[in-house]
Amino acid sequence: MKTALIIGAGLGGLCTALRLTQKGYKVKIIEKNPTIGGRLNILQDKGYSFDVGPSFYSMSYEFDELFNSVGVKNPLQIEKLDPIYQVYFRNRKEPFKIYTDIDKLAQEFAFEPRFKEKIQHYLNKASQFFHDTENAIVKKNFNSIPHYLLGMTKVPLKHIPYLLKSMWKVLDKTFEHEETKVIFSLVAFFLGSTPFETPSIYALLNYTELKHDGYWAVKGGMYSIVREIQKLLEQRGVEFITGAEIISYENGTPNKISAFLDHHGNKYTADVFVVNSDAAAFRGKVLKKTKYNEQKLDKLEWTLSPFTIYLGVRKKLKNLIHHNYFLGDNFKEYANKIFKSIIAPEKPYYYVNVTSKSDPTTAPEGCENVFILCPVPDLRYKKDWNDTQEFALNIIQDLQERIEDNLLNYIDTMHIMNPIDWQNKFNLYRGSGLGLSHGMLQVGGFRPKNYDEDYKNVFYVGASTTPGTGLPMVVISSRLVTERIEQANF
Ligand SMILES: Cc1cc2nc3c(=O)[nH]c(=O)nc-3n(C[C@H](O)[C@H](O)[C@H](O)COP(=O)(O)OP(=O)(O)OC[C@H]3O[C@@H](n4cnc5c(N)ncnc54)[C@H](O)[C@@H]3O)c2cc1C
Repeated sequence: MKTALIIGAGLGGLCTALRLTQKGYKVKIIEKNPTIGGRLNILQDKGYSFDVGPSFYSMSYEFDELFNSVGVKNPLQIEKLDPIYQVYFRNRKEPFKIYTDIDKLAQEFAFEPRFKEKIQHYLNKASQFFHDTENAIVKKNFNSIPHYLLGMTKVPLKHIPYLLKSMWKVLDKTFEHEETKVIFSLVAFFLGSTPFETPSIYALLNYTELKHDGYWAVKGGMYSIVREIQKLLEQRGVEFITGAEIISYENGTPNKISAFLDHHGNKYTADVFVVNSDAAAFRGKVLKKTKYNEQKLDKLEWTLSPFTIYLGVRKKLKNLIHHNYFLGDNFKEYANKIFKSIIAPEKPYYYVNVTSKSDPTTAPEGCENVFILCPVPDLRYKKDWNDTQEFALNIIQDLQERIEDNLLNYIDTMHIMNPIDWQNKFNLYRGSGLGLSHGMLQVGGFRPKNYDEDYKNVFYVGASTTPGTGLPMVVISSRLVTERIEQANF
C-alpha cells in the first residue's frame, strides 16, 4: 500500500485525502491548528456557531462530484437561497434584493432602461465564457506554459478581448446606472480583488450565481462540509495529527524529499507528499526556493485581507437576510484607494452573513449569529492593526444605523480576526484571504503548479495552485492533483 502525507487539513487537503483513499493510499494528515478545515472552520461560543471564513456555498455539483467519486451520495443538506443576497447603499434606505428570477430582478432595477434585455445579454455572454472554459481550461492539468497557451487556443477567439478588459469596463458599457454596475461587479470580491483589476471574463461568476446553480444555505453551517468529509476519512482509517506545523524537510535522492519535520522535531515519511499550505509561500518558506523568496513573493499579486467580526446577538434582527452587502456611495474611489492604503477605511464597505436566518440551530433561540467581513489591504500595505477594536466598533455602529436596530446593547459574544490573525492562524501570506489573485498572468500555466519543479514526490493542492481560489475551485484542485499523482512516477 502506498502512503501519502497531506500537509494541511484545509478543504483542499481533506478532499485530496478522500480521493487518495479511494485510489488505495494509506493517508495521514498533519495540521498546524487544533481543528481541521483551514479557512473553512467553525467558531463556537455561548451556544452560537459561526463560520470562520467561507459562507457562500456555490457550484454544488462540484461537491456532488467529490462524494460520488468515492461512491457516496452527497450527504450535505442544502437549501436554495432566493433572494440570493441583498445590497444596501449608504444613500438608499431600501436594499436591492437580488433574485434569480429575471422578471423579479427587473422590478428591483426598474430605473435602469431596458434592464431585462441588458442583463440577459450580459448573462448569455457570461454563460459562454463559463462553458467554453470550464472543461477546456479550468478543469485541466497543464504541464507547462506552452501547453497552457496551446489549450487557450481552443477557447473561441471572440472571448479574447474579454481577457484584456476589466470587469468594470464591460459593466460600464452595458448598464447606465452606477448601482447596477456596482451590484453586478461584486463577484470580483469572490476572487479577492476589485472589478477594476479583475478581467471581465470572470463575469462567468454572475452566470453561476444568477442562472447556473445559485447560492445555497448548508444545514448546520458551512462546517458541515468538513464534518461530513471527516466522517468518511475516519471510516477509511485516515490518521489526523493536529497542532503540528511542518517547518522543514530532508532530502532523499536528489529529486525526492524523504521526510518533512514539524516544529516539535517529529519526522514524517511517506511515498508521496501533498502540500495544502499556500503553494507559493510554502515553496519559499519551507522549501527555501529562491524563486519564491520573500522579495519575490511580495511582488506577486495577492488577494485582499479579511477583517472579520463574529457577533452573537441576543435578539432577532429584522433587516438582515442570509447574505447582505453594505456599500457606500463612492465605490470607484473606495476600491481604487483603500486596498493599498496604510489606514483603515473611515466609512467601510462590508458583507454580513447571518446563518441563523436560514438555520435557527446555529444560534440560541431568539438570537442571531452575525458574521461581518470587511476586505482590507494586506500586510504589505497596512502592517499595524493596533486600531482593531476601534475599527470593529466603527463597523458595528455603522451596521446598527443602517439596519435601524440596536446591536451594541445586545451583544452576548464578540470575536475579531484582523489580517495578522488570519496570517498567523492559517499561514496566509501577508494575511491575504484568498491566496494568489487571478490576473491573466497568475492563472492556468502561470499559477504555481500542482506538482513540484524539483521533487517528483511532492504535489500541491488548494487556493494558490490551479485552478484557483474558492471552495468549488479547491474541490476541483483536489481532483486535478489526484490525477497528477496517479500519472506520476515517483
Ligand atoms: C474570510 C473569507 C471568506 C471566504 N468566503 C468564501 C465563500 O463565501 N465561498 C467560497 O467558496 N470561498 C470563500 N473563501 C475562500 C475559501 O475559504 C478558500 O479558497 C478555501 O477554503 C481554501 O482552502 P485550502 O484548502 O486551499 O486552504 P486552507 O483552508 O487555508 O487550508 C490550508 C491548511 O493548511 C494548514 N497549514 C498551513 N501551513 C501548514 C504547515 N506548514 N504545517 C501544517 N499545516 C499547515 C492551515 O492551518 C490550514 O488548515 C473565503 C476565504 C476567506 C478567508
